[in-house]
Parts: sequence; structure tokens; C-alpha cells
Amino acid sequence: MIKVTTIPGDGIGKEVMEAGIAVLDALDLNFDFIKSEAGDGYFQENGNTIPEETLKNAKNSQATLFGAITSTPGERSPIITLRKELDAFANLRPIKSFEGINSLYNDLDFLVVRENTEGLYSQVESYGDKEETIAISERIITKKASERIARFAFDKAISDERNKVTCVHKANVLKKTDGLFKRTFYDVAKSYPKIKSEDLYIDAVAMYLIKEPRSFDIIVTTNLFGDILSDEAAGLVGGLGLAPSGNIGDNNGLFEPVHGSAPDIAGKNISNPIAMILSSAMMLDFLDENYYANQITTAVENVLKARKIATPDLGGTAKTMDLANAVIEEINKQT
Ligand code: ATP
Ligand code: MG
Repeated sequence: MIKVTTIPGDGIGKEVMEAGIAVLDALDLNFDFIKSEAGDGYFQENGNTIPEETLKNAKNSQATLFGAITSTPGERSPIITLRKELDAFANLRPIKSFEGINSLYNDLDFLVVRENTEGLYSQVESYGDKEETIAISERIITKKASERIARFAFDKAISDERNKVTCVHKANVLKKTDGLFKRTFYDVAKSYPKIKSEDLYIDAVAMYLIKEPRSFDIIVTTNLFGDILSDEAAGLVGGLGLAPSGNIGDNNGLFEPVHGSAPDIAGKNISNPIAMILSSAMMLDFLDENYYANQITTAVENVLKARKIATPDLGGTAKTMDLANAVIEEINKQT
């Protein structure tokens, strides 16, 4: 029995979660889903965005699936709380082209690994004067976090049979912080002699991603740079409805579509569930259920390639569950 906490959240989070669970249920695996609450809807009724119960469930599960939440002004984001509580230090975003999907590049397959816990998102901010005309943000980089994110990237290279890890930084300007990040990267690289390692400046990578994205295999970078580059890279392929992600720690993983709660289309059952479905495939990979992860991925590829069932964002008229059912049908064909 695989214990999975599910947090549908708000808006289309609920719809895509239902679709994602239906697909998981079609596999020859046993799941114990622990449905849990978080988000703005929960806040409106209870006054906090995430209850202790949800955090406890997530900690006691092998993995957590997260739909999407609408942010509550002035309140801390539940997803940030969850990442922290689970110590999910690595944000993993696969950038993959799909046959049948119009995009800038049709043959990309690389990973962006973003450090999830520190950097410019340490949230240590202050004012330098009483008048609040000087604002200061601390960009904290530690050897410990740099080492574990580099190790995560190289381990991923080995497990996914990839050849190269590129460290992205700005050490020529941020000499101490990114100097440490880069130095630590090359220290870790010594333990992985079979994997090629290189480093590039963030500004150059912003350009290379557009001009020669095929040159990347795994990118590893600090928090803010990773946030920006992973969105840029996602723009090279399918778009929000197809982009999955994982937040991974030593003992737990939290998997979620990149998109948000999309209030503009919520409740119409026309949201694209593929990002959520692919996020659950990432979860199965994390749980070492690679066979089942591949079943889902192959089914999604076949459905997209066929171009028969598509939600409005993909140019069709299908409903959320139509697309999920098409994926389930493909899975059933495989067995
Ligand atoms: P939030 O504040 O929760 O992030 P948002 O309005 O920014 O909500 P996003 O989900 O980030 O919405 O996405 C932006 C737009 O992309 C949405 O308004 C929606 O039209 C579209 N979109 C996002 N996800 C999907 C999806 N799964 N299927 C179809 N369209 C989507
Ligand atoms: Mg958004």
C-alpha cells in the first residue's frame, strides 16, 4: 500500500486532482489516498491556509500530491510551508517536448534542478533606514545546501542516464555567494567522474536556452535563477497545462503541476489535467515505481500524439475527465 497525501486546493486544483487520482487508480498498484485541506477556500472558513492535520498527513506519507491553491493576501503560502516542513530542498522540472503539441522546439528533453530552500528566497529582508528608502534582502548561500543540491543533480544524471550537469550562477559579480555555490558544485562533481560538468553564467544561459536549448541535459542552480529559468524553459515546450514538477527531499516528495488555480476557467471542467497526471508519474519515479511511471508517461505521449482528445488550451473541446479517461484507456491497452 502506498500512502499518498492529496491536497486538491482551490480552483482547477480540485479538477486536475480528481483526474490525476483516476489515472493512478487505473494502475496495478494500491494507493491509500489521504485527502487533506489547504488553500484560500480553507482559509475563508477556518482562518488559516493550512491545518496542522495536513502537515502531519504529508509528513507521515511516502509522498504528497498537490493540485493548486489561490493565494490568500497577507498569508504565508501553504506550498512554501509544505516545502519547508518536508525539507523538500530540490525543485525538479522536466522540460520535454511532446509530439502533437505545437511548440518552439519539438525535440527537447532536459531537467532544471532548482535549490528550493535559500538564496534570494531566504525571506530575510529589512530596511536600512527609518524612512524605508533603503530595502535590503539577504541572499544566503550555504555549503550544506549547495552540496546537497549538486549531489541531487548528479545522482539524477546517473539514475536518468544523462551525461552532463551545468551549474548556473553569477560568480563573477556575486563572488562570495555564487563563488561558494560554484566551488561546491565542482567539489561534488569529483565524485561523479563519468558525468560531464560545466558552469555558465545565468545571463548567458537565458540566451542559450532560446538559441541552443538542445545543449542542456541537467541545469542546477540557485533559487531565484532556477525559478526564472524553469519558466523560460517551460515556454520552449508545451505550456502550463503540460508542465509537471516535484519538490524532493531526503525522506519525502511533494509533486504538483506548475500552473496555479486558474480562477478564470475554474469550475467549468475544461482544465488540462496532463500537468497533474505527469506530476503523479514523477511521484511514482520518486517512489521507485518506475515501471508504472513509464506506463503513465507513455499513455500521455500516445494521447497527445493522436491529437483526438484535447482540452481547449490544446485547441480542442474536451473536458478535463475526457482527457484523463483517454490516458486511462491507453494505460489499459498496455496491460
Ligand atoms: P494563480 O494565482 O493560482 O497562479 P493564475 O490566474 O495565475 O492563478 P495560472 O494557473 O497560473 O493562473 O495560469 C495562468 C492561465 O493559464 C490561467 O488563467 C489559465 O487560463 C491557463 N491555465 C493554467 N493552467 C491550466 C490548465 N491546467 N489547463 C488549462 N488552462 C490553464
Ligand atoms: Mg499564476
